[in-house]
Amino acid sequence: MSLDTSTLYLVATMVAAMLGGMLLLFGRQENIPALKWWGTAYLLGAASVALWTLEGARFGEIFSLALNAVGFIACGLVWNASRVFHGRKPNLLGLPLGALAWIAAVLSLPPEAAELRMTLGAGIVAVYAALTATELWSERRRTLQKRWPAIVVPVLHGFALMLPILLGDFLHHENHAFGTSIWVTVFAVELVLYAVGTVFVIFMLVSERTVTAHKNAASMDPLTGMFNRRGFAEATSRVIEREAKAGRPVTVLIFDIDHFKSINDRFGHPAGDEILKLFSAVVINGLRITDLSGRIGGEEFAALLPCSLEEGVLAAERVREAFEASGIVDDVAGPVDTTVSIGVAGGPAGTELEVLLAAADTALYQAKRGGRNRVEAAEELPLSLENWRRKSAGNARAAPLKPGASIA
Ligand code: GH3
Ligand code: MG
Ligand code: MG
Repeated sequence: MSLDTSTLYLVATMVAAMLGGMLLLFGRQENIPALKWWGTAYLLGAASVALWTLEGARFGEIFSLALNAVGFIACGLVWNASRVFHGRKPNLLGLPLGALAWIAAVLSLPPEAAELRMTLGAGIVAVYAALTATELWSERRRTLQKRWPAIVVPVLHGFALMLPILLGDFLHHENHAFGTSIWVTVFAVELVLYAVGTVFVIFMLVSERTVTAHKNAASMDPLTGMFNRRGFAEATSRVIEREAKAGRPVTVLIFDIDHFKSINDRFGHPAGDEILKLFSAVVINGLRITDLSGRIGGEEFAALLPCSLEEGVLAAERVREAFEASGIVDDVAGPVDTTVSIGVAGGPAGTELEVLLAAADTALYQAKRGGRNRVEAAEELPLSLENWRRKSAGNARAAPLKPGASIA
């Protein structure tokens, strides 16, 4: 089977142009700037290759040179698209560098050095492909996983372009004509595969990012920016698993702002919201960076600390004191009492989160009963949630409840 190379190049450019149009349209519709860069790159690249294939011979050297330069700029745009996609600034200096190097080389090289020129051209494209792959690779290490196609596609593209250079000598000695035509065909086919492969990668990245954004939104509390109950449970289960493997204890804190209903009633709901934000800041400042915290209900917060019960109680005490000392004064209604009651429960490595939360909740109840604005530690930990439920049902029948150890 013989393939007509001009037809092949035209098909390649039409595919690239169509994909470019789609990327531009989608980028505009979804407002994703990187897709606009990618789309423009495809359209420019397609236009330059198409014109070069159809009209290159007719308009002579300078026209070909300009078309090739546009092609290299398109490669630079693809690289910049991957930078913009990951929130980096476009590198406007590197964008025309390949094109300028090409023009300088062509103008300074003698006309008979066609092979050297081809090597240089392929080299420039390969460098841009490598830069694109590097960009996508560094992002992979930061947040996203399982994105090998994002690396493999540009690397293969660069490799396909470099291959004839690596094999150039060998082919040259065997049969020059064969060597030239087969690689021209291979390039055209590779161009189509690269264009389609890259768009596949782009859409994979975009969809992965959208899923991550939705997932984050579902785990976040919009008022405080903290984890919500769901996000907190997910994040803590990972930490508990990790600490259990290392054989280290974990401690859970449950915070409930005192008389919050009356704060709302006296100062208004928006003021109540401000107090919630203030409290979240107090919690975050009072805890370590390795501690997890979240808003698990209206005016209820929780934290998971990878430490012993005693250390957890000290941290809780720190938060309680800081919140009490926040000194909020309403212009009209006067000072706002900002106090919080805290229940703390710690367990040996591998204790389930539900068990810790249940025990911390009991301790919190004791803190409220004991007069509020205090920290109570769970005296003992139920071995399992089932045991705890059975025990608390028994306790409810045989009141009074067993008091926790008072710390405050
Ligand atoms: P206690 O000391 O026993 O904890 O009393 P409390 O008033 O804090 O507890 P209660 O459960 O009676 O009231 C909680 C209040 O929190 C009631 C509800 O209106 C308020 N609340 C819940 N979510 C929000 C919110 O997002 N913003 C504001 N401003 N208030 C909220
Ligand atoms: Mg409450
Ligand atoms: Mg409350």
